[in-house]
Amino acid sequence: MTDRRTFLAIPVVALASAVVAKATSSTPASAATQQQSPQQIPQQVPQQIPQQSPVNVVRSAVRVQPGLPQLDVHYSRHVPVGVHYVSKDDPATGGCSVHGTEETEEVDVPAGAGYINLSGVRYDLIQFHFHTPSEHTFNGRHAPLEMHLVHQDATGRKLVIGVPLVEGAAGEADRILSRLPEECGEPIEVEDFNLRALLPANPSTLRYNGSLTTSPYSEGVQWFLTVPKTVTAKSIAGFRSLFPDGDSRPSQALNGRHLLADVHWSGHW
Ligand SMILES: [Zn+2]
Repeated sequence: MTDRRTFLAIPVVALASAVVAKATSSTPASAATQQQSPQQIPQQVPQQIPQQSPVNVVRSAVRVQPGLPQLDVHYSRHVPVGVHYVSKDDPATGGCSVHGTEETEEVDVPAGAGYINLSGVRYDLIQFHFHTPSEHTFNGRHAPLEMHLVHQDATGRKLVIGVPLVEGAAGEADRILSRLPEECGEPIEVEDFNLRALLPANPSTLRYNGSLTTSPYSEGVQWFLTVPKTVTAKSIAGFRSLFPDGDSRPSQALNGRHLLADVHWSGHW
């Protein structure tokens, strides 16, 4: 996924310091004493095990876990959206024709037009965008495209729904993919867009903890992978022609992570 608007890179050292500060600030009157106490100083910071995205989904890493909290989806069916090309080139060097692997076509969603409730927390849909080929793979296989619906709660925590897009009947995403703006070109407005139609009717998901898939690769992102949706062959070809070298990050190591399935997962592609 990409994240253009919020930049949540928190250095590990700073994070560790914050935890220590929190742990030692519960009794302010004795803070000075505690700071001088060797017992309060961690001997070493535990080594961080990377939890990066995307990942390759293998059966052996999937755990079926009935009773997981469900995504309660509130997406508008009639909303105007704007599509723009996300450029990461320096305009001074005339990079408008260099379609880098961390660039994409992104759709801005009006505030409040879409949100998810999960375990009592509201995550607002802030944008969605596309990658080719899919960033997540199943047994090493890619879908032609993957759509990322990026949500954020009031504290900035991210929840991303990844939807594999495969060739088939036209879907709502074709209304975006059929008329993509050029890099450095004007955004394109699409009226009366149905956000709800972007998600498959099958509510089955795989969920895991990962990261942004573009710089700064911040972790703490809750990922939900759905079963595939279809778009036309023409849309797939059109997006590929814009990114002939692709705009996907390679698979990252699971490092012991599991993917949790809320029902029997059969969403391979
Ligand atoms: Zn993405």
